[in-house]
Amino acid sequence: MRRFLAALLSIGICLGISNHARGQTEIQVAEPRVTYTFGSTLTIETEIISTIPIQKITLLLQPESATQQIVGEALLDPTGRAVFSLDLAQNPIPVFRHVLFSYQVVLENGETITSQEFEFDYDDNRFPWQSLATEEFAVYWYEGDTEFGQTVLNTAYEGLARIRNQVSAPDLSKITYYVYASAQDMQSTLQLSGQNSAWIAGHADLASGNILVSIPPGPAQSMEIKRQVPHELAHILLYRKLGEDHDKLPRWLNEGLASTAEIFPNPDYPLLLEKSYEREMLIPIADLCQSFPLEAANFQLAYAEATSFTWYLLAEYGNPGMEALISAYADGLGCERGAEVALDSTLSKLERDWRRINFNESPLRSSVEGILPWMIIFAALLLPFFGLFIGDIVKRRRKHE
Ligand SMILES: [Zn+2]
Repeated sequence: MRRFLAALLSIGICLGISNHARGQTEIQVAEPRVTYTFGSTLTIETEIISTIPIQKITLLLQPESATQQIVGEALLDPTGRAVFSLDLAQNPIPVFRHVLFSYQVVLENGETITSQEFEFDYDDNRFPWQSLATEEFAVYWYEGDTEFGQTVLNTAYEGLARIRNQVSAPDLSKITYYVYASAQDMQSTLQLSGQNSAWIAGHADLASGNILVSIPPGPAQSMEIKRQVPHELAHILLYRKLGEDHDKLPRWLNEGLASTAEIFPNPDYPLLLEKSYEREMLIPIADLCQSFPLEAANFQLAYAEATSFTWYLLAEYGNPGMEALISAYADGLGCERGAEVALDSTLSKLERDWRRINFNESPLRSSVEGILPWMIIFAALLLPFFGLFIGDIVKRRRKHE
């Protein structure tokens, strides 16, 4: 992997680079040597020469698209060698990101000088990556032959065409896939990056355009490629289409669009939906607006419902309806209101229509279920009057007797 090699090969190259700020003392910081093992230890060494003795050296690291800077002290030996070490398990850096860093040098005369910026790529170098690339996509993998990498690459293009059939998506700037050979490998990468990895097979790093998928060898491999590769791509394209407004999409729509992009959808969904419907265990769509349930069984059901409901909306309202719905939500309209504005129907009405068509539900059952909460409220309001009425009848009877 080119970037990984570059990080390692920078060892031993030492270029004299001078830093000069107007009116300040001049210091010289040599090209730093960066070495690391992903998730373990990072070491950055350099030589710093100053005409005034150095009191303290601080290293400021800024991973690309990360909000938090990592700050630590570099230790200086008598020869002028400054060594900075970082425990990456304690201070995780997001994986596959470009990292900028500079030195802040405090001199004994009280002056503080900041060096020019240096950079390195922080990759998962625990695996012997192979790669293939085109203008739009790059694919890295460590288990399987070139044909495997080519299949992933081809599927990315197939997925792109499929997504563009459903929603308008902007032109691509490079998207990079990292294909892990097991879910455990991928999840350990996310954990060592300081990210949550529970239950997931794939992960789209929206800001960097990197996609991590886990595709183990075996009979299900080609199905998993056709499922995960387009799914994560759809997440990145939605983010590029909407920018920060992407976060305003209801979770069911975000996951629904990504799942309808899958070329080989999850074969367990239809049966799971049918069973949950029969047992009256379907999760109301309104409950899937903010987040999905965390327990495994309902987590999968949430995906199944989001997928089926999104398919229904695409079939019923077509691309113009879907575009209107996406932009209503991106404008910040709530889960119910967005549907009303874009599709002229409430979310609960859309849900009833979906259930009727998807599960052959009789209109009576869906309409009764739709008004059931109102009937309960109505009954609760009437109860005191009903009580008075009965009480009155009893009183009258007693009088009569
Ligand atoms: Zn997803």
